Amino acid sequence: MRAGLVAGSPADERLLNTTEILSQVLLQDVEDAGDGGGRAKKIRQGTSAERIVSVHDPEMRHGRKSKAVRFDGHKMSLVTDVDSQLITAVDVLPGSAKDQTGSLELVQQSEATTGLQAEAVLGDMAYGSGENRERFAEAGIELQAKTPQRPDIGFFSKDRFDIDTDRMTCQCPAGQVTNHLMRKGFHTRQGGQPVQDLAFVFPAVGCAACPLRTSCYRPTRKGREVLLHPQEAMIQAAKAWQQSPAFDDFRKQRQVVEHRIARMAQLGVRQARYFGCHKTLFQVLMAATVANLTLVLAKGGPSATNRPLRSLQGALGDLFRAALALAAPIQSRYERSAEAPTSGAIRSRPQPLTLRVATSRPGL
Ligand code: SF4
Repeated sequence: MRAGLVAGSPADERLLNTTEILSQVLLQDVEDAGDGGGRAKKIRQGTSAERIVSVHDPEMRHGRKSKAVRFDGHKMSLVTDVDSQLITAVDVLPGSAKDQTGSLELVQQSEATTGLQAEAVLGDMAYGSGENRERFAEAGIELQAKTPQRPDIGFFSKDRFDIDTDRMTCQCPAGQVTNHLMRKGFHTRQGGQPVQDLAFVFPAVGCAACPLRTSCYRPTRKGREVLLHPQEAMIQAAKAWQQSPAFDDFRKQRQVVEHRIARMAQLGVRQARYFGCHKTLFQVLMAATVANLTLVLAKGGPSATNRPLRSLQGALGDLFRAALALAAPIQSRYERSAEAPTSGAIRSRPQPLTLRVATSRPGL
């Protein structure tokens, strides 16, 4: 087929892309059966995160809203200002992406758009990994997010042990203290770098006579092990914050973003109107602009006395401008052009921002 096409022409590139997608679709669920000859194939176990689920939209991915609820499509990321309730940044991720993916960059985009520094970023548990906390801390932004509950393992959980990250010691419920750390394999960071996992060990000889032994661990030759989180100090600080009265304020403030997500759902973002993340982002930007405009109108518009609202109205223009910038290549494809309107962000005192990701499901 390529013989009739000029090499490197748009038609040739389209044909190559289509062939690549089709070969990926055909091969993504099979693997070598290992017969030595390489001819026998078998169905692959499990699902790759990069599995193409639609030939019409090769950017769609399998995603999960929870353990039980799955979807095929993209995810929407959203940053909302707690006080004004204005949406200040949006993004569209592959459906298989972790919720926390690109969260720091989105908050930084929100800061750049509004000209306001985030006092704190409030996220749900999906943002609360040690790695994400570390990234926000390195950027000088406070991230407030719940830590996950420990699963019931039938023995003392890690919460019953007191880990001192300064002295690098661990005290067990019976009062024994150990500083014996051993290697426990590796895990992979977001960027792909391997990180060594470590665990405190209470030697089996010391635990043999302990009256709490049967509640502590299943008998092993090594003794009780307690994993040391790579960002242990940050996780401990988050757990202490979860027990403090400040956590109630966090829960109330996070409701704001839930309401804005509901508003976005009203405006149709649960159904992608276009193929691909790029065009779906255009849809989300337009929906966020409409959500913000209707909110400002409902509040009576920005007034001279309402400085936070005035300062954030620039975000409206920037979201709209970003939508038009995204639309430009789409429109030029159909030999039309768009001119982005100009708008300026009004700077004001710093406002706290709240962050949350919702999933959207394209109708494919
Ligand atoms: S079994 Fe060992 S680690 Fe567990 S409480 Fe007793 S002394 Fe501590």
